[in-house]
Amino acid sequence: MIYKSIIIGTGPAGLTAAIYLARANLNPLIIEGPQPGGQLTTTTEIENFPGFPDGIMGPELMDNMRKQAERFGAEFRTGWIIKADLTSRPFVLTLEGVGEIQAETLVISTGATAKYLGIPGEQENIGRGVSTCATCDGFFFRGKKIIVIGGGDSAMEEAHFLTRFASEVVLVNRRSELRASKIMQDRARANPKVSWGLNKTPLEVLAGDRGVTGLKVLNNETGLEEIIPTDGVFLAIGHTPNTRFLEGQLTTDEQGYLLVNPGTTETGVPGVFACGDVQDHRYRQAISAAGTGCMAAIDCERFLDNVNVEALVH
Ligand code: NDP
Repeated sequence: MIYKSIIIGTGPAGLTAAIYLARANLNPLIIEGPQPGGQLTTTTEIENFPGFPDGIMGPELMDNMRKQAERFGAEFRTGWIIKADLTSRPFVLTLEGVGEIQAETLVISTGATAKYLGIPGEQENIGRGVSTCATCDGFFFRGKKIIVIGGGDSAMEEAHFLTRFASEVVLVNRRSELRASKIMQDRARANPKVSWGLNKTPLEVLAGDRGVTGLKVLNNETGLEEIIPTDGVFLAIGHTPNTRFLEGQLTTDEQGYLLVNPGTTETGVPGVFACGDVQDHRYRQAISAAGTGCMAAIDCERFLDNVNVEALVH
């Protein structure tokens, strides 16, 4: 069987594309990867997704989107795509342990994964003071002390943003030099609520019954360990777009994010569309991902309407 459309990834982008394509009677197949629901399933309450005046839990929002897609006939399959061949038509995806599946069009919504440090106390305190998203979780730290880890533009931006809520934000970076652009550094330096913990390598997130209490670091200047008391640890050490299975068949920027034609979700291969965080390192919001998922579905429908897929050659 050749699917008219396969959607890869089930975050807000993929599920929104699924709702639209299913409602257009295109019976999409949605491949659900190792983290069904995407990054939102690792957050707790979401207060900025329009339509939920009292907020909604991340996993519940994703579950609702999935049910909405199923209601219109979307088919879900759990699996790990190990290879995608975009050089012939129909496109061929290899699903680990299952075999090959074929599609006339593809929507890639595999997202990006926030990088973690891999230190003790980190994973077990996600949602209890450890976060990778200031926009999502900053609000919960009103009047509290926060550490932001990283020295790039994200760290500067998140630290600056978090001073809206926090009483103090300490920027901790493993080197004394910052990778961030000068303008972003200057803005953080000018902020009286930001202090600096430079040349300090994070070693362990410390926590008690009520969540995070501190960060143990190695002071690279003195060689001594220190504990910085804090209520929250925000990681801003970069994201990795999930594109490995594409093996360089689509154009990306230097960080690996898929490039799309501006104002569309079209990649360089006709019939392959990208939406959500896999093509967006700037906004990274559930609502903006959902918006591009809608765009991908409409681009996909129009492509199937207007193009004789069999006649396409590379
Ligand atoms: P970057 O890769 O630029 O910076 C990552 C930071 O995390 C670096 O300081 C790095 O340290 C540190 N880091 C990485 N791994 C570890 C680790 N294991 N332990 C401790 N520290 C670590 O990522 P960003 O997310 O900041 O930025 C990504 C891209 O997005 C950049 O191009 C940036 O310019 C862009 N961006 C632009 C914004 C804007 O224009 N408004 C806002 C946010 C991002 P080290 O330097 O030592 O390697």
